[in-house]
Amino acid sequence: MKLILLGAPGAGKGTQAEILCKKLSIPTISTGNILRAAIKEGTPTGLKAKSFIDAGALVPDEVIIGIVDERLARDDCQGGYILDGVPRTIAQAEALEKAGIAFDAVVSIEISEEEILRRMSGRRVCEACGSSYNVEAVPPRVEGVCDNCGGKLIQRKDDTPETVRERLKVYHTETEPLVDFYRRRGLLRSVQSADTKDETTWAILKALGMEGK
Ligand code: AMP
Repeated sequence: MKLILLGAPGAGKGTQAEILCKKLSIPTISTGNILRAAIKEGTPTGLKAKSFIDAGALVPDEVIIGIVDERLARDDCQGGYILDGVPRTIAQAEALEKAGIAFDAVVSIEISEEEILRRMSGRRVCEACGSSYNVEAVPPRVEGVCDNCGGKLIQRKDDTPETVRERLKVYHTETEPLVDFYRRRGLLRSVQSADTKDETTWAILKALGMEGK
C-alpha cells in the first residue's frame, strides 16, 4: 500500500499516519519530522530548512525531493509506505511521478479553518520521537510525557497563532491544488476529520475499503 495523506496543517495527518503505519505495518515518511530531526542534529539540510520552517514557509522543493528520494530507496519502504506532509506542491507531486512512483490512494483529510486554529493551540509534540498529541483531543497518558518513548512534550515553534495563519495561507496557495491534481488521476478519497482520532481512522480505512483492519 502506497498512500499519501493530504490536509491542512492541524488536520491530523501526523496522528493518523502513526496509527495507520502500525495497523498496516508500513513506515510513515514525514518530511516535517525528518526536517525537525535534521535541525536538532545541526546537519546542512537542517541549517538550510530552519529559517523556512520558523517563518511558516515551505522548504524549497529540491531539498524535499532529495530527502524523499533518499528515504524511499531504503529497504523498509519496499513493501509500501505512508507519505505524511509530502508532496506539498505540484512540483513535488510531479517529481514523484517522474521517479515512477505510483500511489494506491491519496486521502485528503478535510477540516474547517476554525477547528484548525483551535487544535493547533493545543498541539504538543515529542521532542525525541516526533509523536504528536493534543491537550484536549489526544492527551498523553501522563501530562507532558510521550506515551511512546517517555520523551518531553513541547509546543512547536511554528504552532504560534501568527505562524499558523501564514502556514494556512501557504497551504491554500501551494498545497490545496494537489487535491484536484490527484482527483484527476482517480486517486482521491476525501474524509472528514472527526472529533476523535479513532473515528477519523475508521473513516480513512472505510474510504480505502479496509474496514476490517
Ligand atoms: P509539518 O510537520 O508537516 O507540518 O511540517 C512542518 C514544516 O516543515 C512546514 O511548515 C514546512 O516549513 C516544512 N515542510 C515539511 N514538509 C514539507 C514539504 N513537503 N515541502 C516543503 N516544506 C515542508
